[in-house]
Amino acid sequence: MDIIKGIKGVKDILPDETPRWRFIEDTARRWALCYGYQEIRIPIFELTALFARSIGAATDIVEKEMYTFPDRDGTSLTLRPEGTAGTVRAFIEHNRAADPLPQKYFYIGPMFRHERPQAGRLRQFHQFGVESFGTADPRVDVEAIALLWRLLSDLGLPDLTLEINSLGNSGDRAAYKPILLAFLAQHEASLCANCRRRMTTNPLRVLDCKIPECRTATESAPKLTDHLAPEARAHFDQVLAGLQAIGVPYLLNPRLVRGLDYYCLTSFEITSTHLGAQNAVGAGGRYDGLVETLGGPSVPAIGFAVGLERVSLMLPETASSSLNECLYYVAAFGEEGTKLGLVLLDELRRIGLSAQCDYRAATLKAHLRQADRSKCRYAILLGDDEAGRGSVILRNLESKAQEELPLIGLATLLKSRTIPS
Ligand code: ATP
Ligand code: MG
Repeated sequence: MDIIKGIKGVKDILPDETPRWRFIEDTARRWALCYGYQEIRIPIFELTALFARSIGAATDIVEKEMYTFPDRDGTSLTLRPEGTAGTVRAFIEHNRAADPLPQKYFYIGPMFRHERPQAGRLRQFHQFGVESFGTADPRVDVEAIALLWRLLSDLGLPDLTLEINSLGNSGDRAAYKPILLAFLAQHEASLCANCRRRMTTNPLRVLDCKIPECRTATESAPKLTDHLAPEARAHFDQVLAGLQAIGVPYLLNPRLVRGLDYYCLTSFEITSTHLGAQNAVGAGGRYDGLVETLGGPSVPAIGFAVGLERVSLMLPETASSSLNECLYYVAAFGEEGTKLGLVLLDELRRIGLSAQCDYRAATLKAHLRQADRSKCRYAILLGDDEAGRGSVILRNLESKAQEELPLIGLATLLKSRTIPS
């Protein structure tokens, strides 16, 4: 019979890899909580209108990457391509703006985009992201960027660069657009078809094109940061000064744009030379207009998202190696040993000690082979001889040292020996 395979660009994460994923997710959670962000869990699918309205019609995501399908009653639904839209929807729907505290959320979970799959670019991928609502102060920008930087540095990712830019306020962008367009018009012949089209729909996005010819053509384009009104300039300067004060290194990148109308002021991205073409690990920015665009009150906000597949690709091998460890292998064999072994296994687990046994093994030799393969730290040998003596042999699988211990109270004794973690 034909085998039914998984979908292209959608990966299984097998037990070999899950310790690595748990390590990344746990580290992200720890850092987010440490910075005062609280976890939010939002749905995997939403009304299509939510993404169309928030992400913007003239973006790669909405134009060609969304998994959109009709519900049984014809309503258009979409698998979430990112986490900001759903978080903002939840923020508005649950009237979180009424809470006196600034609202700071983080999320971890799968996202879906129909893209050409390659290393670090999947159709189902995972993001860790944060959204901070209610504070316009540039120190919140510093805080979000610091969290992203500290997290990725703590994970030990190599050769990270934080790139930063300011998109100004909408007035700044409106004043800059004709200046940019005049420049682009002079270089139109060198631009790719996509960029020529974007000149009319979303000209800022041309600066972000990854195609080398386009990059060369826009090398000397006028910079938005040279056209900021004093207020936006001051905000940007305070963000940069804050980063400097806490020792987060950055690189100014005037090309870094997120060409959506609601993005404003601070825009940032962390890249690594270790990722090849997919060099962005995480990206974010301020989106003071979005809550209002989606029907909520006027609430300033900033957020970022990190691609966890890309983090995983870059994570040093040593970072998470010991996490899959089960402590005890119970090698119970013989008639009486097998009976007592079943109870012992359950006692160990109930007291919180990880333990396993291959029930297919019937002899000591077969058990010891499986014990070695299992990567457990100890084997507990319990045959009929031991059962007759009311004891077990505890064998250190690395040093091979053995000791005989009483069977009664064994789980408690072993528990008292484990170092609390
Ligand atoms: P790119 O330019 O690489 O397409 P993007 O601008 O579309 O990235 P964002 O929407 O800002 O990405 O998402 C934040 C992060 O999520 C990215 O920096 C990246 O690490 C990750 N990411 C985005 N799309 C994918 C994907 N298809 N597969 C894996 N990771 C992704
Ligand atoms: Mg993309």
